[in-house]
Amino acid sequence: MKGTAQTDELDTDNSGIKEELKQVALKAGALVFGVADASAFTAAAEGYRPTDILPKARSVVVIGGAKPRAGDWQSPNYQHMELSSTNDRITALSMRLAHSIERQAGYYAVVVPPGVDQGQLPFMSLALAAELAGCGTPSLAGPVLHPEHGFMYFSALITTLSLPVDGPLTQPACPAPACVEMYQRSGATPCTATCPIEDNGCLGGAIVDGRWSERQYDRGRCMARVYNYWVPTFQKILTETLDEPDNEQRRMMINSTLFSRSLWSMTYANISQGQCFECMRVCPVDQANRQLS
Ligand code: SF4
Ligand code: SF4
Repeated sequence: MKGTAQTDELDTDNSGIKEELKQVALKAGALVFGVADASAFTAAAEGYRPTDILPKARSVVVIGGAKPRAGDWQSPNYQHMELSSTNDRITALSMRLAHSIERQAGYYAVVVPPGVDQGQLPFMSLALAAELAGCGTPSLAGPVLHPEHGFMYFSALITTLSLPVDGPLTQPACPAPACVEMYQRSGATPCTATCPIEDNGCLGGAIVDGRWSERQYDRGRCMARVYNYWVPTFQKILTETLDEPDNEQRRMMINSTLFSRSLWSMTYANISQGQCFECMRVCPVDQANRQLS
């Protein structure tokens, strides 16, 4: 890529640059790499599309990886995941690619911030970007799943560089063949059996001809269980503490385990962390990669 100039010719055929970016990403640890057309984000609300972050954006480069290790899935203490979130690594890799695009190809590049904008909404949906770039398909349980690697963290960069687009996958990763079989036997899949919506859980639905014909996901209930310690809890406890008139009670609230864990959680990550991976723990999509022998 070094030495390439911003010319009309390169702007119409950049498969060489794309391949170089892909090799850099894979060599640095990314599991998947894909490119989406910046104009394809019509499902996103106005204000949350690539050109809202970078005017004249042409492409969105998505990389995925940094997923929990095999050992993480073996642990019965799911809370340990809250402080071992690895998504920062994949964001750092995106920044490296953005640097290459700007310094070596001469086009603007912006890494989508992994945090949230107003109203707890992401600046741009990484899930939609991953889907449009062919890095996976949305699962019933929320995360985008890659057919081979399953659950992973994604990062995206928006650029004015026009790159060949990979496009969405045609075959959904969810439901996996094992889930279809289980559904035919029992009316449930591993994730719906773990977190059944009809029994105070979040997931449900119907599978017809190997595909979800009806999906149920209680996002509000899931959020309440996933983000137990992070910013929302900090805000909640702080409000209650400020309203507490009794000095001793206020001191106890500030020193409580819940408040301390919230502070630790925020200290260790600049982005949201999930504290419940139970639906992903039982998901069969990348089970083979979670066993060391
Ligand atoms: S993350 Fe937890 S609460 Fe949310 S759907 Fe999965 S199992 Fe249910
Ligand atoms: S277990 Fe995984 S693949 Fe199966 S239905 Fe649930 S999210 Fe989809």
